[in-house]
Order: sequence, then structure tokens, then C-alpha cells
Amino acid sequence: MTETKLIDRFNRNLNYLRLSITDRCNMGCIYCVPKDLVPKLSHQDILTYEEILRLVRICVNLGINKVRVTGGEPLVRKGVYQFLKELNRVGGIKDVALTTNGVLLYDNIQKIKSAGIKRLNISLDTLKKEKFREITGVDRLGEVWKGIMKAWEMGFSPIKINVVALSHVNEDEFIDFADLSFSYPFHIRFIEHMPIGESRMKNTDPLLITDIKKKISTMGKLVSVDKESSDGPAERYKFEGAKGEIGFIGAISQHFCESCNRLRLTASGQLRPCLLSDINEDLKIKIRAGCSDEEITETILKAVAQKPSTHSLLEDEKISVSSQMSSIGG
Ligand code: SAM
Repeated sequence: MTETKLIDRFNRNLNYLRLSITDRCNMGCIYCVPKDLVPKLSHQDILTYEEILRLVRICVNLGINKVRVTGGEPLVRKGVYQFLKELNRVGGIKDVALTTNGVLLYDNIQKIKSAGIKRLNISLDTLKKEKFREITGVDRLGEVWKGIMKAWEMGFSPIKINVVALSHVNEDEFIDFADLSFSYPFHIRFIEHMPIGESRMKNTDPLLITDIKKKISTMGKLVSVDKESSDGPAERYKFEGAKGEIGFIGAISQHFCESCNRLRLTASGQLRPCLLSDINEDLKIKIRAGCSDEEITETILKAVAQKPSTHSLLEDEKISVSSQMSSIGG
């Protein structure tokens, strides 16, 4: 048994690490990046896979047992499938999951499966071809859907479809998304749009969970599903007779900070104790300065000690996070 040391000032046990392995993406979503061509980190600015794996092992020794790989788009980084395999071999991790936009899923699903990934989160904000191009800048909805279908046929479970609720953009499709839960065993999760970094969308008229629930409530009664201990922040529901579930992630309106168990490592090696704060500790500097595991552990604990009790985005509209979501990984 590893001795858990990642207990923060507010007695939260941090056992979940989200790894952004690249800031590059094959999409340029209106709410995520300022324009199609944002400056990208150079190869030497991002952690190598060896460096990431070393940091993961140190974190596992401190009690991390759940890891999610994200980005940018994780599947665009060269060598990612071998990396996923090695990550899965790190003793002490119970669960390695992947978040992807799904564009490269269909062609690589077997490699993802062989690497030991069972759980997939796929981001999809519209089911309409033209709107998909408007939101993402690319015309690849067909590939994403083919990838989702293939993942389902191959038995990935659960498949979670993440839909960011964007006012005046996709609110007319919430019912269509919710309806998918009748045909497929997917978990359709509506996520509040967060004011992070620069983007081409202002969060002036945010859609909150209560608004989303109201929009889909015409479809039937949402019955709440019991949470499991490994569950994240989503409130889980099911329509009677549905195969899949409906989830709501109210990062703004119903923040779940008191139970937040997460740390985030960015592609450039910053360890961030809170998604909605720019506080971070630079682990790349430490690792490249030849620091020992003990010295790196000290820096990790320093980040943990700074984890804020809560964010106050709803109370104070002026607060925003300057880092880009594409570099933090969501
Ligand atoms: N490329 C991968 C993907 O699309 O799933 C992983 C990285 S992406 C940054 C992770 C998640 O963050 C996606 O579900 C995306 O929709 C979400 N996201 C990006 N910007 C957001 C924002 N401002 N508010 C809420 N979610 C956001």
C-alpha cells in the first residue's frame, strides 16, 4: 500500500491526476482557443514521455491512483499509443482514461484498446455538420461519429460524450443529445462553459445547469443515478427507459470544489492544483535541473498546499483564468 500524502489544507485527498500531453490540437474550437493559429509550444518546451512517466510514478507514490490523458488533442502527439501502454503499466494506477475530440478515434481505436484504455470521454458539441465546422473550424463530424460508433462496437464502457453548453450556439440541440441516451448506452454530459483563457466566445450569457435541465425536462422524468466512489463531479441521471445516462457538470453554478480530488499537469510541466486558478508549480524546471525524486515531491506538495478551497467565478464576474484550456486539458 502506498502512503497517501496528498491531503490538502482542506482535508481533500488528491488521488486523480490529469495529464495534458500536448497543447496542439487538430481543431480550433471557438470557445477554447482565440484563433486557429495560436503559438504552439516547441518540442523542447513540452515534457518528454519519459519525464511525464517519472512524474506519474512519483505522484503514484504519493497516492495518485487515477490518471486521465488529455491535451490539446492527445491523439495528435507522436508516440501516444506506446505512451498509453507504458502509463497503464505503472503499478498503483487503477484507472487510465482518455479524453479526445474523436477525430482520430476510428483509425486508431485498436491501438487505444491494445494500450489498455477502457474508458473514453469524447467531446462533441453539435450533431450538425455545418455547425460542427463553425465551432471547430474543421469539417470532421463524420469521422468523430464513426469513431464513437466503433468505440461502442468494440465494447469501450462507459463512453462519455461531453457537450459544452454554449448559449445561442448549441442550445437548440440539447434535446437531440439527450435523445442519444435512449438509443445508446452513452453518458451524455452537459458541461457549463467556463471563462478560461482567451477565446472567440464571451461568456456573457452563460447557460447554467438549471437552464439545461429545464430545456430537456420536456423529454421525461430524470431519475437520479447513485454516484459511485470513483465518479467525478457529474450529477448523474437517467430518463426512464433509456439505455444511457445524462450528466451535468456545473463547474460554475454548482461547484464541487469541496470534493475536488484533482491535480493537473500541463504539457509544459506546470502542476496546477485548481483548474480555475493560475496557481502552479513548475516541475519541468525541477526535473531538468536534475532534482531528485524527493526534491520533486517537495514541489508537488507545495502545489498541493496552495490548492484553493474554492473558486468564485459565479460571485465575481471579473475573475477569469488566463491560461488556455488547450494547455491545461480541461
Ligand atoms: N482535445 C480533447 C477534447 O476535445 O476532448 C481534450 C482537450 S479539451 C481542452 C478538454 C475538454 O475541455 C473538452 O471537452 C472541451 O470541450 C472542454 N473545454 C474547452 N474549453 C472549455 C471551456 N471554456 N469551458 C468548458 N469546457 C471547455
